[in-house]
Amino acid sequence: MSSSVQICAAIFASLPDAVFLIDPETSFILDCNEAALKQVGMPREEVLNHSVLTLQKDVVGIDQWASIAQAIWASDGFVFIGQHRHASGAEMPVEINTSHFVHDGKAYFLSIARNINQRLALEQDLSNRDAQLRFALTEGSDGIWDWNLRTDEVFFSPQLARMMGYGPHEMKPTLATWTDNIHPDDNQRVHSVLQAHIAGLRERYDAQYRLRNRNGHYLWVHDRGRVCEHDAQGRPSRVVGMVNNITDEKARELALLKIASHDALTGLLNRRECDTVLERQIQLCRRLQVPLGLCFFDLDHFKQINDTLGHAVGDRVLQHLCRVIEGEIRNTDYFFRWGGEEFLILCTDTPLADLLALAEKLRRRVELIDWSGIALIDRVTCCFGIAGMPAHGVDASSLFIAADAALYAAKANGRNRVEMAS
Ligand code: GH3
Ligand code: MG
Ligand code: MG
Repeated sequence: MSSSVQICAAIFASLPDAVFLIDPETSFILDCNEAALKQVGMPREEVLNHSVLTLQKDVVGIDQWASIAQAIWASDGFVFIGQHRHASGAEMPVEINTSHFVHDGKAYFLSIARNINQRLALEQDLSNRDAQLRFALTEGSDGIWDWNLRTDEVFFSPQLARMMGYGPHEMKPTLATWTDNIHPDDNQRVHSVLQAHIAGLRERYDAQYRLRNRNGHYLWVHDRGRVCEHDAQGRPSRVVGMVNNITDEKARELALLKIASHDALTGLLNRRECDTVLERQIQLCRRLQVPLGLCFFDLDHFKQINDTLGHAVGDRVLQHLCRVIEGEIRNTDYFFRWGGEEFLILCTDTPLADLLALAEKLRRRVELIDWSGIALIDRVTCCFGIAGMPAHGVDASSLFIAADAALYAAKANGRNRVEMAS
């Protein structure tokens, strides 16, 4: 034997996969290697010159062999998954890859039978894990999504569709279905958080925003996701996420925030909020170098209303007066209930002359309120003290002291008056 033939024989003998040489006509096994004998658990003489069909659990007759042989002839490498029977009676799953060749004018089939027991176990394990993961995601959220960045297709889970009021097949599986329904005020923020994650600048995507449901109402959602696949160039290609409907929590949170920042009687921003907003506006106006106006006002002889008509009437007077004033100021102005019957209006980018005109307009407007239907009152008047930045101060306390002194002067000078800080 030449050495290359010897090497081929050695390779054949020591291949880890079972190899069978088969006669295409008869299906008989003409030769096999050691791994093949081990796989079926039989001595060589019991394997050779027996039909390869005897090894198979499911293949029964020579008729079937004819169609199998035909398929093998028709392909370059015919692959099928079968079950080999071991002499001990055990069955093992095998992947059989069969090719054909001609040698010395005679045709042969060469089958390589690989035991795929371990691979199947791994696949089963993977599918179990996948099921566990899906269960966790589904139970831990109100819906999941799976975005293919290459196609912009998005899988929305039936649960997510239900959360948004859609039937299982009603949501078009595209990115636009999602982006088109984000509240316009939240859209940019949500996208920049998502882009930052995709660009690798953020560990994960996490955002709370409003999402429009099928009825056109907005739900508050908590949305979290992560890139879970990359393409060959290392670019993110798939992002998976889960959504929770947090509408109820958000409503409670917003209600608490409102309680913390608003006055219950008049609905105006409260004094605590005034401190923060005033500080912020001072910074802003300084930076932009625009004037800031403070208009402080207080009802005249309000105690008398309480004393003669009762506290409940006093409350109604305060409420109505606030609605009237709100109707007269710009929506860029801030209106605070400073204390009992004392109020503050903060006017950004307002020169002193405009501030003075505003206070005078409000004074006259209050004087002219028709109280019939609200209380047995002819007339309510107020005193106004105004001060502006930078003319009367450049910080909260000096501005406030200046406006308060002007208000005090308005009281001292006869009430129903406007005074500017000196
Ligand atoms: P002046 O013209 O000097 O401002 O006199 P005034 O009576 O308006 O001022 P004073 O400070 O003597 O009294 C303010 C009154 O406002 C006393 C207080 O009971 C009443 N008050 C404060 N908060 C409320 C409220 O929420 N509801 C009612 N009904 N009254 C209030
Ligand atoms: Mg008063
Ligand atoms: Mg007062």
